[in-house]
Amino acid sequence: MNQKIFEEIQQLKKEKKAVILAHNYQIDEVQQIADITGDSLELSRAASKTDAEVIIFAGVHFMAENAAILNPDKVVLLPDLEAGCPLADMITAEKLREMKKEYPQAAVVCYVNSSAEVKAEATICCTSSNAVKVVNSLPERQIIFAPDKNLGHYVSSFTDKEIILWKGFCPIHARLTREEVVMAMNEHPQAVFVAHPECVPEVLALADYVCSTSGMFKYARETAVKEIIIGTESGMLWRLRKENPEKRFFVASTKMVCPNMKKINLEKIRDSLEEMKYQIIVPEEIRKPAYEAVRKMLEIK
Ligand code: SF4
Repeated sequence: MNQKIFEEIQQLKKEKKAVILAHNYQIDEVQQIADITGDSLELSRAASKTDAEVIIFAGVHFMAENAAILNPDKVVLLPDLEAGCPLADMITAEKLREMKKEYPQAAVVCYVNSSAEVKAEATICCTSSNAVKVVNSLPERQIIFAPDKNLGHYVSSFTDKEIILWKGFCPIHARLTREEVVMAMNEHPQAVFVAHPECVPEVLALADYVCSTSGMFKYARETAVKEIIIGTESGMLWRLRKENPEKRFFVASTKMVCPNMKKINLEKIRDSLEEMKYQIIVPEEIRKPAYEAVRKMLEIK
């Protein structure tokens, strides 16, 4: 790591009373300098427990918004405004309102990978680790599940509710094919295959274990298995290898790289701290209903 930038960031962090959060898919250097690494919700919740006044969110736009929804009294900065998420962009609040009119009896379960405006239209939010629990906790028989159809399809096999899928998908997870997984399995015959539920159903059918990114860290820590093929974004490898030096990890395909997640680097974090840019502000009339949808989810144990 570039020592000069590292020191500059540490100094600015102290001056501004800032905390750096980095998503598990960020580049290695960014994960190294972060105070906390994790998935988007873990990070936002962790931030609310710190006494930092400024949150630097090394992730994509909807994640910084999540942090702003949960931490209205803190300044939330995203070091690169171009770091967006194609999955979150596959739905708008307006289009969701139209769908709600079509299914007036349905509850809306909204994956946290969505904008604040979309969350504000939801009955409740979910993450990839609690989606099944959230859906089954609701009294409604009919559920609009948005925006990830693959996660929604996965959930539908663990509930008898009628799931109406929004047709969005994560282009990174959806590009992993069955053939690539079979190839990786042949190359590493001792390995187990652990997949993220944003992968397509044919890929999930091959998985020994389906779980969120935080589920993968837990699984890697606790399993006696020594070799693991992961079906998710390649940024996961850094922490998996750091936490489990005696185990071997492989990505199912080298195509599993999210370019948006790689947009943030140390220079941008330093500039963000120095110039206090780019502040993510969620207007109160959106933040409040969005917070309600997140709060209801957090109440589910
Ligand atoms: S990995 Fe997929 S869901 Fe995550 S930020 Fe990239 S495009 Fe969005």
